[in-house]
Amino acid sequence: MTRPPEGDDSDGTAERKMRFLFQLRSAGVTDARVLSAMERIDRGRFVRGIFADRAYADVPLPIACGQTISQPSIVGLMTQALRIGPRDTVLEIGTGSGYQAAVLACLARRVYTVERHRQLAREAQALFADLGLSTIVSLVGDGSRGLPDQAPFDRIIVTAAAEDPPGTLLSQLKIGGIMIVPVGQSDAVQSLIRVTRHESGFEYEELRPVRFVPLIEGTAND
Ligand code: SAH
Repeated sequence: MTRPPEGDDSDGTAERKMRFLFQLRSAGVTDARVLSAMERIDRGRFVRGIFADRAYADVPLPIACGQTISQPSIVGLMTQALRIGPRDTVLEIGTGSGYQAAVLACLARRVYTVERHRQLAREAQALFADLGLSTIVSLVGDGSRGLPDQAPFDRIIVTAAAEDPPGTLLSQLKIGGIMIVPVGQSDAVQSLIRVTRHESGFEYEELRPVRFVPLIEGTAND
């Protein structure tokens, strides 16, 4: 065994981080700002229990309430596809573990994130506070309705699959705004769609096949 270089901790954190970033680049995450956001936010903080040792692998993992934390490369590709500017206000639907929201918070001015499970929202809020991510506003509710009081948004990201891009959310997008949403049946492969709102209407682009848990209307009873 060689000694880790000066400044490195002996548990291999630096090497693990390098491997994590290498996986992201290999999957097509090339935007330097997105990579540095994902270097900064430790995914290990968002994964618990028996799955914690796989936090840096490029796989989705189970979280509480029967939900999943997305695969890091998908988080990276979705974030990159959003083309976030530093003055943007972003709406995320499906807080889950809070990992995606934390990455968004490194790039945007403010992030609103909505989750239908109170338990998940509460745990994510505690993590945001612990990590000093004070620009994230975390709310419990039915995200398929968006947040009419805060609308319109520069960017919207939906991290659960809808059968169609939700009209209510589209109406809460600014002109020039971008929405990323997985579209399709929840038990099949879905398509990741980028919607750009122009003066004259909406432009749709299909980005890649993905698999997400379904967007479910209403709040959960927990
Ligand atoms: N972005 C998350 C992964 C989300 S998994 C992360 O980084 O960990 C999808 C999440 O969407 C689940 O937590 C699920 O409860 C939530 N969800 C599904 N339908 C919803 C709705 N209508 N409103 C708000 N959240 C919803």
